[in-house]
Amino acid sequence: MNSNNQAVLILIKPDGLKKSLTGNILTRLSETKLEIVAAKMVRVSKGLAEEHYKHLKEQKFFPELVSYIRGEMHDRKKVMALVYHGKDAIKKCRDLAGATNPEEAEATSIRGSYGRITTSGLYENVIHVSSNEEEAKREIQLWFNPDEIIVDMFPVKDVIEKEKKVKGWA
Ligand code: UDP
Ligand code: MG
Repeated sequence: MNSNNQAVLILIKPDGLKKSLTGNILTRLSETKLEIVAAKMVRVSKGLAEEHYKHLKEQKFFPELVSYIRGEMHDRKKVMALVYHGKDAIKKCRDLAGATNPEEAEATSIRGSYGRITTSGLYENVIHVSSNEEEAKREIQLWFNPDEIIVDMFPVKDVIEKEKKVKGWA
């Protein structure tokens, strides 16, 4: 594996889904020539949301942020989660996404084009992109199991699952 190769977690947030931006965002991201190595729709539990944004726990907008990523403001209780992989993946995707504050983001970036600030001040910025390698690893391991990712990017171990109830086709 090339040493510049990185993995990055992308989330199309509920506002992005509601605004029908999925195709548009995936097209923009395809300009990077990175490889999609995992993708799924996720219903975001409170626990997952709080863990994902734990670095912002002390912020006064934290409860609203958790509610936002869970889709409670957009009547879309899901996000699309993807892992992109390849050379300088984090910088490439963050450049396309634009600045966190959609009003400061470059006008042609994804957030600059489609984000907004709510009346209460929360940045609804359409897309999440991991900010560095350490965060990317933490976030990818939080959102995905190893067998949901088509390349081996982090060390894995064999785990014996004790009788676990799972859904099968009826
Ligand atoms: N956020 C916000 N106000 C802020 C900072 C962050 O509403 O002052 C929200 C915004 O949706 C952002 C998310 O919290 O995308 C995570 O913040 P972070 O600082 O990690 O920014 P990002 O990595 O998403 O650019
Ligand atoms: Mg971040």
